Amino acid sequence: MTISTNLRKRVLSGMRPTGKLHLGNYVGALDNWVRMQDAYECFFCVVDWHALTTDYADTSQVKQNSVEVALDWLAAGLDPEKSVIFIQSHVPAHAELHLLLSMITPLGWLERVPTYKEQRENIKEKDLGTYGFLGYPVLQAADILMYKADVVPVGEDQVPHVELTREIARRFNNFYGEVFPEPTALLTPSPKLPGTDGRKMSKSYGNTILLTDPEPVVRQKLKTMVTDPARVRRSDPGNPDVCPVGDLHKIFSDRATLDKVYAGCRSAGIGCIECKGWAADALVKLLHPMQERRKKFEENPRLAWDILEAGTEKARKAAAETMNDVREAMGMSLAYESPAGKDGK
Ligand code: SF4
Repeated sequence: MTISTNLRKRVLSGMRPTGKLHLGNYVGALDNWVRMQDAYECFFCVVDWHALTTDYADTSQVKQNSVEVALDWLAAGLDPEKSVIFIQSHVPAHAELHLLLSMITPLGWLERVPTYKEQRENIKEKDLGTYGFLGYPVLQAADILMYKADVVPVGEDQVPHVELTREIARRFNNFYGEVFPEPTALLTPSPKLPGTDGRKMSKSYGNTILLTDPEPVVRQKLKTMVTDPARVRRSDPGNPDVCPVGDLHKIFSDRATLDKVYAGCRSAGIGCIECKGWAADALVKLLHPMQERRKKFEENPRLAWDILEAGTEKARKAAAETMNDVREAMGMSLAYESPAGKDGK
C-alpha cells in the first residue's frame, strides 16, 4: 500500500464544465480554493463526465466549456505550481474506480440522495431516468477516493454526497481491507450572492455577472439590478439588508464604502444609481486583475492546455497508485501469479 510522504492534507474538489464562470462560482468555491492552495495538497478537477449525467444528449460544448472553466480557474489564481489542475476524463482510472464502487453501492443509498430526488422532480425538460444520473454520486465518490482525499470543500447541499462517499469507503474497506481514508466535508463559507434579478445567481436564471464581463458590461448589469422594492422614489429611505445591491456591497466593498451605503441608503442621502456605481467599482477592481491574467491564456490557448496536460500526468500517477492498491485489495492485481499461488514455483 502506498503511503504519502506529503504531510499536508490532501484536498479534492471539482466543478462541472458549465462554460464561463460567474461571481456565484467565485464566492461559492473558487475564491476558497485559491486560499486553500498553500495549506493543502490540492487536486482540482474539471468534472466533464459529470456534465454528461444530465447533458448527455449534446456533448458538442463539453470540451470547450472545460477549457473555459480551466481558464477562469487560472485567471482567479489557481496556481499549477501549487495545485494539480486537470480534466476528469483525461484520467480514465476514474471510470474504473466508478465501476468497482458501483458494484458495492446499494441502490437505496443512491435513491435517498436529496439532490437526486430534487432534480428528478424539478428538471422536467431532460430525461434524468438514466443509470448514469442515479449513479453520479458514485462517480463523485470515485473522484474523491481516487486521490485518497482527506478534505472535500463543499457547499451545504453537497454534504450528503461526502457522507455517501464515506459510507462507500467504509463498505469497501470492510469487504477488502483498509484502502481508503474517509474524507471530511469542509463547509465552504458561502455568502448569499444574488444575481441581477435578486434571485440566487445562477446560469439557469440568466442573472449572472461573469468573471470575464468587461467593465461596461458589469456597469450595465448593475444599472438594471433590482433594489429594495420599498425604495420607490429617490426620497424614500431604503434598507441595504433587503437590497440585492446591498448584498453585493457586503461581499465586495470595503468598510468605508459599506458605511456610506448604510448611512446614505437609510437616510435617502444617496440614490440607487450612485450606490450601484460603487458596487460596480468594487467588482471591476476584483475582476480586472483576473481578466488581465486570463488574457495571457486567451492569446496563447496552448499554454492552458499544457498546464492541463501536466496536471493530468500528476493526477494519473496518483490515480495509478490508488488503483494498484484497489486491485490488490480485491485480489485482482495485474501481476502474474502462478497457478500454485503467489509463492508457487
Ligand atoms: S441605495 Fe443601494 S442599498 Fe439602498 S436600495 Fe438603493 S441600491 Fe439598494
